[in-house]
Amino acid sequence: MKTILVIEDDELIRNNLIEILELEGFRAIEAENGQVGVQKAQTYLPDLVLCDICMPELDGYGVLETLRSTTQTSTIPLVFLTAKSDQRDLRHGMNLGADDYLVKPCSVSELIGAVSSRLKKQAAFVQRYTQQQQQATAAFRRGAMLDPLTNLPTRGLLDQHLQNLLTSQAERSSIAVFCLNLQRFHVINSSYGHKTGDIVLQMVANRLTKVVQSNGFLARLNGDQFGIALTDAAESELEAYAQMLLDRVTSPCVIDGNEIRFHASIGITWTDQLQGTPQDLLTQAETARHWCQQTGVTTYRRYDSELDAMEMERRLIEMDLTKAIERAEFQVYYQPQVDLQTGQIVGMESLVRWHHPSRGLVSPGTFIPVAEELGLIVPLGEWVLKTACLHAKRWQSFYLEPLRVSVNLSMRQFQQRNLPERVEAILEETGLNPKLLILELTESCLMQNVQETIHTLRALKKLGIEISIDDFGTGYSSLNYLNQLPIDALKIDRTFVKQIHISEGAIAISNAIINMAKGLKLHIVAEGIETQNQLKFFRDRGCDAIQGFLYSPPIPADEMQFLLMSDRRLQLAVA
Ligand code: C2E
Ligand code: MG
Ligand code: MG
Repeated sequence: MKTILVIEDDELIRNNLIEILELEGFRAIEAENGQVGVQKAQTYLPDLVLCDICMPELDGYGVLETLRSTTQTSTIPLVFLTAKSDQRDLRHGMNLGADDYLVKPCSVSELIGAVSSRLKKQAAFVQRYTQQQQQATAAFRRGAMLDPLTNLPTRGLLDQHLQNLLTSQAERSSIAVFCLNLQRFHVINSSYGHKTGDIVLQMVANRLTKVVQSNGFLARLNGDQFGIALTDAAESELEAYAQMLLDRVTSPCVIDGNEIRFHASIGITWTDQLQGTPQDLLTQAETARHWCQQTGVTTYRRYDSELDAMEMERRLIEMDLTKAIERAEFQVYYQPQVDLQTGQIVGMESLVRWHHPSRGLVSPGTFIPVAEELGLIVPLGEWVLKTACLHAKRWQSFYLEPLRVSVNLSMRQFQQRNLPERVEAILEETGLNPKLLILELTESCLMQNVQETIHTLRALKKLGIEISIDDFGTGYSSLNYLNQLPIDALKIDRTFVKQIHISEGAIAISNAIINMAKGLKLHIVAEGIETQNQLKFFRDRGCDAIQGFLYSPPIPADEMQFLLMSDRRLQLAVA
């Protein structure tokens, strides 16, 4: 029932109005003057006020001004009651914000018509306002819960979703959480710009949406990380599902004519106990993902408790690594490379070692990925380059043949804008002939942004140095691009060498790599040669050089110097 406040000093008119309003089904409140009227309006907050203009104490204008000035009463419709003679003052009233006026004495239909139409208008206004309020609230919530770039739910919503799944135990038999990220996404941003980076993320989000569809819950966790929750997924199907996600996500993105390639990692956790918190599940999946990320290739892994220990270990390494550079705990080892025509050392690869004060010798496989992640690889890599150049220069003075030194460059180093200038400065400082320096780069590093790679490689080659592709066959090389890269050598990865006498596939791949490299007129080095049979295989196929334990493992500089002085040749005659 709507409430109408009648403010009228003329008792007869007031009573009459009250009577009519009550007969029409309104609740009517009366006030005999302006002062009382304002008080009652503030107390009862009526739906409408009918107000006389000429009254003692406080007139109608005063009432209107007072009501409009207080938030609570400012929107209450006010209809003036006026005698004909007051009509010239109406403009003043309307200017002050009155909604309508009635001329006294008014008929029942006039009164009810005016009151009803004002109330209707007010109701429409309130409805519109409420709707706007609701829309604004919903938009705010969406903004906080939906990621504006991909339109996917945010981490908060995935948390909520997992919480719901964990609490509605009876209906669920298992929950699987997948955590996916793009490796080295920062490189895409820095090479192609943030706009392109955003498009890559949107494309990845679309690809994931198509795979996940309505079977699961997909969210963008942050940056390049996505989370997926599946219910009732069979434990035996988790890996196939992860592989399917990886296959879809990692197909190259072609944006503005650039073919952008990247690796992705997926960490998986699965439970049928439905215990713990959403955070526990996400942390487990993220720990597994982190492990995958360190492999540097596209892969997935399921969480197990062993990973916690490894993660802890990684953190310890991380802490010690920063100090290790200051404490000069690194040493460069050298592994000879032997010519397959002469059996003589023609070069060596520099391989860094870390002498940890309590752990002993830590292998680069353990700390290089951590150094890469922390950015420490840049100063460390420069130190290795400088040390290797100094040794090569020194040994050159007594070694009769040209002796080349290979230095591994990490992705981060290669992406340094001033890399050619840095290398040039080191060559100048150490005095090494640039022709004797080879930089080893992996396929994934070279294929990140082919145009930029070509640009950097040309600048490096201008200095006179050579470029070699390391671990060939394990990354993803586009053969078309390979032809465009100004490279000089290719190293066949140890994984093929190891399987030469076990797997026909490895033989086929090695043959194909050798033929291709010969076609491209590249120098071919087989690495990881441990047996005479492996040696024979690569020699028969016309490889140029080998590197491996068969001749020598990586050794410290003084031993390398001794080896060079002894001029020990590799026994090439194979029975
Ligand atoms: P890589 O550049 O492919 O180096 C060859 C790796 O194969 C070396 O492992 C070497 O010890 C190993 N190897 C060589 N011959 C044999 C063999 O006959 N049998 C076996 N089982 N292994 C053999 P290492 O020294 O542990 O280095 C591992 C990786 O760490 C390197 O692979 C390289 O990617 C990285 N690395 C090493 N030093 C540096 C560095 O100074 N900078 C950068 N960025 N990466 C480095
Ligand atoms: Mg190497
Ligand atoms: Mg290698």
